[in-house]
This record gives sequence, structure tokens and C-alpha cells, in this order.
Amino acid sequence: MSPLARRLAQGIRVDGPLTVAQFMAAALFDPKDGYYATRPAIGAEGDFLTAPEASQMFGELVGLWCVQSWIEMDRPDALQLIELGPGRGTLMADIARAARVDPGFQASAQLSLVEISPPLKRLQAETLAKVGAAPRWIARLEEAAPGPCLILANEFLDCLPIRQFVRADASWRERLVGLDPDDPERLCFGLGGALPQSGVISMIPPPLADAPDGALVAFAPGLPALIDAIAARLNSAPGRALLIDYGAPRSEPGDTLQALRRHQKVDPLESAGEADLTAHVDFGAVRRLARASGVEVAGPVAQGAWLGSLGIELRAQALAQKRPERADSLAAQLRRLVDPQEMGTLFQAVCLSTRGLPPPAGFPQ
Ligand code: SAH
Repeated sequence: MSPLARRLAQGIRVDGPLTVAQFMAAALFDPKDGYYATRPAIGAEGDFLTAPEASQMFGELVGLWCVQSWIEMDRPDALQLIELGPGRGTLMADIARAARVDPGFQASAQLSLVEISPPLKRLQAETLAKVGAAPRWIARLEEAAPGPCLILANEFLDCLPIRQFVRADASWRERLVGLDPDDPERLCFGLGGALPQSGVISMIPPPLADAPDGALVAFAPGLPALIDAIAARLNSAPGRALLIDYGAPRSEPGDTLQALRRHQKVDPLESAGEADLTAHVDFGAVRRLARASGVEVAGPVAQGAWLGSLGIELRAQALAQKRPERADSLAAQLRRLVDPQEMGTLFQAVCLSTRGLPPPAGFPQ
């Protein structure tokens, strides 16, 4: 067991079991032993590979999408370009390079990064300095300067801690992290008591309210506040938020909690703090919350289809023509991003927009 798992077990002995969200928050963000505080390792050499790390084409197309959105917003003089969870800064650096096609966009964009991890902040500063970009770091979206904005988040929502509930005898029980009865040094999953309907109803996705016995459903307690904060901005000035992540287009039951270390699935309890820990995003919940907050919602659409309609194949061909020695590697990157066996359908893109803006590029109307 990891040092953090041992420490959590000691706490549970005194204070009782944790919700899955409390466990996930500790595993990711504990200031002493949490994964993002101590050892985030994104990329081919690290624990997990994200789309911008897989290929420059991803960030280039997102960059052109940003320029197009700025044009559709009537070219505001000052645009807040805000990224949530920028990782190594690769996506923002590729956006900055691609956006050189429009000096007006470049002059108007002011970069703000919402990042919790001190080591990743340092990497972001290094990566962005190489493309001449000088971002500002903020602790929360609400701290970004007001006005027209584009908000980007790739593989950020999957880090939001989730609570999990299991349907049993027509009521709901919460899945908890407690101590293994056979080995009280170890953590194990268990179930809490039956919850009163009034206590749990706001957390069960409405389409799953009548799920059959045994169904497991998830709720991210941080999601409503995040969507509200995004909507508050989009309702007060023109803007869009592009959210890309892995997850189902509709609310579905199922346990998607997953710990990854060096690209291998590992036990989330044993590896607390030493592996990345994520859960699939419930895009059905994202849509419902966004609609209720008064913004327009496009998608979700599968990442492969979205990148396809933005012209990723042409981009791959153009790059391969310039650098024929890279043709095989570019073909592999393209497959990685769009193939249904790889990231193409597992990942979804959704766009929240200020009412009245034209439909965003890449989303079917
Ligand atoms: N977008 C990047 C990185 C994804 S990993 C990419 O696609 O490569 C998740 C990122 O979100 C990391 O940068 C992590 O430190 C950050 N993060 C996760 N939860 C956060 C939170 N609550 N507040 C701020 N940053 C967070």
C-alpha cells in the first residue's frame, strides 16, 4: 500500500469510512502525498497520454477553432482565453502557434490558466515561454478577468471527485472506502446504509432514478458549481466553453473509477497518490446543468467525428507532405486521435455557448 493509503487507513480507523469523493480528492490533491501535488506524469513516458500529448494536430485544430470562435464573437479587443487543467501546457502552446494565422486574435488573447499542481505550473511556464506566451495563473475560474472568453478543458472534468451510489432493494446506498475486515491495514470498498430518498435524490441522475437493483451510479459534487461558474461568464459576455473528456454522451450506470500508472490499470485503493485517478464524465449531466443555467449546448459529439469535421485528415496530409520522413508517425497519431478503437469515440466534445452565437464549428446542427 502507498504511504497515502496507509495514512487514510489510519484516519478511517478513527473517523469511519470515506465517501469515494473524499478518497479521490485525497488521492489526487492531498498537499503532501496526492498525485497532482507530488508526481503528475502526463505523456508517453509518464502514466497516461492525453490528446495534446499524442499529437500537435489536436492543439492546432483547437487553436483554429478558437480563432473561428473569436471571429464569430465579432472579434472582441480583449479575449480571456482560459484553460482549466493545462497539464504540461502543450495544448495552449499548440493553440498559440496555430493562432499566429490571425494577428488580431493573437493581440486580443489574454491567457489564464487554472492549475492546482505546483510541478505542472512550472512545466506550463517553461512550455509557454518557448512560444512567447505569458499566462497568468488563477486558482479558480471566477478569478479570471471579466469580458468575452473562451474556456478550454481537456481531461479536466474526469479529475472531479465522484460519489457513487448503488441501488439496493428500491433504495440507494453509498459506496464507501473503509477497512478490509480480513486485514484492517488495507482499504476496501463497502456499502453504507440505505439512504432516505430526500437525502439522495438530488445526486442521482434523473434518467437513472429507476435503475435496477445492483446498478451503480456516479455524481460529481463539484460539477454543478463548475457549470454554474462557466454559465455565469457566458451569460454576462459572449463566449464559449469547449469541454473534451472521456465518458458517455448520456447518463449511464457503471463503475468507471480508474487508476493508471505507466499506462497500466492499477488498484485505485492500493495506489492512492501514486497513480492518476479518474472517472468518466457524465455528459448527460453536463448538458442538463448547462441548459438549466441558460446557455446553449452543442454536442456531445465523438472526438473522432469532431476532429474529422474540423479537417484533421487534411492537416495530417499537409504535415506529411512537408516532412515525408514523419508520414508513418503522423498516420499513427491521426489513428490515435480519431479511431473508434482508440480515442475517437471514447472521448466526447461538448460546447457551451452564449445564447445567440452561431453554432460552433465541428458540431452537427
Ligand atoms: N489538459 C491536459 C492535462 C490533463 S490532466 C492535457 O490534456 O494534457 C488534468 C489536469 O487538470 C492537470 O493539469 C491537473 O493538475 C489539473 N487539475 C485537476 N483538478 C484540478 C482542480 N481541481 N483545479 C485545478 N487544476 C486541476
